[in-house]
Amino acid sequence: MKAVPQDILESLGAEIILGNTYHLYLRPGHELIRGLGGLHKFISWPRAMLTDSGGFQVFSLAALRKVSDEGVRFRSHLDGSSHFFTPEHSMDVQIALGADIAMAFDECTEYPAERGRAEESLRLTMAWARRSLDHFKAHRDEVVWREELGGQTQNLFGIVQGGMYTDLRKACAERLVEMEFDGYAIGGLSVGEPRALTLEMIAEVLPLLPKDKPRYVMGVGYPDEIEQYARMGVDMMDCVLPTRAARHGLLFTSEGRLNIKARRYAEDQGPPDPECSCAVCRRYSRAYLRHLMQAGEALSATLNTIHNLAYYLGVMARVRQDLEAERTAS
Ligand SMILES: [Zn+2]
Repeated sequence: MKAVPQDILESLGAEIILGNTYHLYLRPGHELIRGLGGLHKFISWPRAMLTDSGGFQVFSLAALRKVSDEGVRFRSHLDGSSHFFTPEHSMDVQIALGADIAMAFDECTEYPAERGRAEESLRLTMAWARRSLDHFKAHRDEVVWREELGGQTQNLFGIVQGGMYTDLRKACAERLVEMEFDGYAIGGLSVGEPRALTLEMIAEVLPLLPKDKPRYVMGVGYPDEIEQYARMGVDMMDCVLPTRAARHGLLFTSEGRLNIKARRYAEDQGPPDPECSCAVCRRYSRAYLRHLMQAGEALSATLNTIHNLAYYLGVMARVRQDLEAERTAS
């Protein structure tokens, strides 16, 4: 997590965090992390973790990508060095990292994509899901903490792709469910498409995924979006938005979005969000947060991020409470 130490994440009630396989593979390297006891030990995070497959970052960050049935060759965005990622290699890296949840290696279809392109991408994703699962099953016992945790191993989730074509998405979901993953993700959304289309894809695919396993929508969203999707039955979401926006001075509040850099907050002694009881809102003024941002102080990123995380976790806590109340009332 950028800018916020682990003990504060714990006190905010964060139950799971995400590690990026692509970044950790390049630096400091998955073998180094395995040697230090896995990602939980390395970063001192005793709660749950998820690693992505590396695919999304290879497609969004790396240079000179060349995709074949075998895998993806690419150059590091750090030093230009050449690397080759296959489903098997992605599993090996994620097993070395040792997060509780690993993700199948997929190809994220860009938006917009012609149908032929989406079909080809789907064909690759399906073949790679099978290879990911086979390799994961053959090697899941190698995770470094298995003995320590009484023989427990990691979980592997499959990822539904298919661009913005509902029939491709549905076919993909059905095939993945037959393969029996530990959980299911809907990927390739929030890639620039209109929000109505994101919603349509989720609404079409979600009923096909088993209710008794985690259902995860990747890469979303704004606070009102995550609330909407959670109420539809989505169990997990991930997004850089609360943390990245915080570092750019955008705060999510009960009164809407607040750009803390704005001049009108220069002498504002009120808390960032009057409805929020987070450590930042209880202690600091908008004027001070604006000053930290203007002065380029490192504390700015930390305080803004703590508030945004508190806000997002608060949204989810409220949704969980509402759903629980509806369940007990019915
Ligand atoms: Zn707050």
